[in-house]
Amino acid sequence: ATREETLGFQTEVKQLLNLMIHSLYSNREIFLRELISNAADACDKLRYQALDNDALYEGDSELRVEIEHDAEAGTVTLRDNGIGMNRDEVIENLGTIARSGTAEFLKQLSGEQQKDARLIGQFGVGFYSSFIVADEVTVRTRKAGTNKSEGVEWQSKGEGEFTVADIERDLHGTEITLHLKEDAKEFADDFRLQSLVRKYSDHIEVPVRMPKIETAKDEDGNEIEGSETTTWETVNEATALWVRPKSDLTDDEYKAFYKHVAHDFSDPLVWSHNKVEGKLEYVSLLYVPSRAPFDLYERDGARGVKLYVQRVFIMDDAEQFLPLYLRFIKGVLDTRELSLNVSRELLQQDPKVEKIKSALTKRALDMLKKLAKDPEGYQTFWNNFGSVLKEGPAEDYANREKIASLLRFSTTHTDSATQDQSLAQYVERMKEGQQKIYYIVADGFNATKNSPHLEIFRKKGIEVLLLHDRIDEWLMSHLTEFEGKSFVDVAKGDLDLGDVEDEEEKQAQEDTAKAKEGLVKRVKEALGDEVQEVKVTHRLTDSPACVVLPEHEMGFQMRRIMEAAGQ
Ligand code: ADP
Ligand code: MG
Repeated sequence: ATREETLGFQTEVKQLLNLMIHSLYSNREIFLRELISNAADACDKLRYQALDNDALYEGDSELRVEIEHDAEAGTVTLRDNGIGMNRDEVIENLGTIARSGTAEFLKQLSGEQQKDARLIGQFGVGFYSSFIVADEVTVRTRKAGTNKSEGVEWQSKGEGEFTVADIERDLHGTEITLHLKEDAKEFADDFRLQSLVRKYSDHIEVPVRMPKIETAKDEDGNEIEGSETTTWETVNEATALWVRPKSDLTDDEYKAFYKHVAHDFSDPLVWSHNKVEGKLEYVSLLYVPSRAPFDLYERDGARGVKLYVQRVFIMDDAEQFLPLYLRFIKGVLDTRELSLNVSRELLQQDPKVEKIKSALTKRALDMLKKLAKDPEGYQTFWNNFGSVLKEGPAEDYANREKIASLLRFSTTHTDSATQDQSLAQYVERMKEGQQKIYYIVADGFNATKNSPHLEIFRKKGIEVLLLHDRIDEWLMSHLTEFEGKSFVDVAKGDLDLGDVEDEEEKQAQEDTAKAKEGLVKRVKEALGDEVQEVKVTHRLTDSPACVVLPEHEMGFQMRRIMEAAGQ
């Protein structure tokens, strides 16, 4: 080896390694899933790049992953003939964490093992998970299409630094050797490895092979020395999961595939697998995760589906196929509608992309509708992603009614901060003669619940939606009606309770207003320019007065948002 140098891991990597080794102990086997997943990704990448440069295969286009072990030496080796890495890539990929928000993420870690294990799962540990089971890791790799002398060897004990050196390497692709820790030697075992491959990698299209060593025997049944032959057996199913018929697939297989696609440890809440033929041909497999990723609200957070064209992997995070308000959806899209050399730029111009997007949007909304039949599962979804879905009516006018039926709110019916009531439920409970859906928006649940604007509604037993999310006013400015009933902000304009009030009550109000004209005039003079108007109201039953915004005025929340944006 030449040009050997020792480098330090990025601070974040050191932190991650440390935490991972301690908090993922009970989940150690996932290292294999992560490494196979990387090997499969590397094969996908090579196949894609070789589409217009066959030479990259270097004469070996049968992509595969091989796993070997040596029980005596206590090692496990994974080898792929995928894209490989050059020296710079090795240093970048296996020395840093490139994902944005990493530092923020790591700050959230508490040091409490169980909690952190969950958080780390959310982050996706990837290659570094090798160090959960290994006290030394060696990576030998060469980028496909480069010179045999351009191989690279990376080595580390996972303790703050690693070395890189140039090596000769005949094969392109990557080989990773794990020197197992004393208490992880169990993994250097044929049966254990095979069952883990089946458990985690059945759905991966690339074959994962393990050697079967056979020795010839003489007439007496004794092994003949030196007669060993190795045959490679494919251990996994090795068919892309989404092309298999639905009836063939078990829930466990769908779940395992989700973990591969979404880099998530936990099970998805629900999925939707569709093969569409005819005018628009595609296969989609979409999932709703059971918890929010740490970068859900980050501008450059990962979003979108894994895109394949006729089974060839094209790109991760293809965000053009789903609207922003469904950015929590994970999954795969495989279509023949696009060409193999499609790029992100081309995706933006292709009218077929728009068509697929609206089809997938429909699938995703239907999937949520299905999930809503399971109140507990739906509540989990809502608690994690509800405020993202609330962006929907503004972004996707065409589907706003569908989205509206998926929204959940706090209301005076339950008087609880939990958002678990649907508009359909509200409409069911509407009073006789009530034509509108009433709501109030304020900062925080208690501010809505205790608002003086609700007094008349509580007295008459009319339900009011209690909106207290930051995005709620924005949402309501794009939701005009539901099932033909318009929304009314109880803090704005003249309050018209429609037929819920009888003629007598209305007359009584008018009479009071007349009788108090003098008082109103004096109050108005006293307040001067501070107010536009002073009126007698029947809104209140206990409080003497309240502030009301004109009907078409921007609300308090929006004003604050605009002010914060410097407008
Ligand atoms: P992720 O897979 O989420 O990107 P990992 O930590 O698993 O994160 O891997 C980091 C990066 O290292 C990968 O994105 C890839 O560029 C590179 N890498 C890892 N394993 C391989 C491999 N077997 N062949 C080529 N590149 C690899
Ligand atoms: Mg990975």
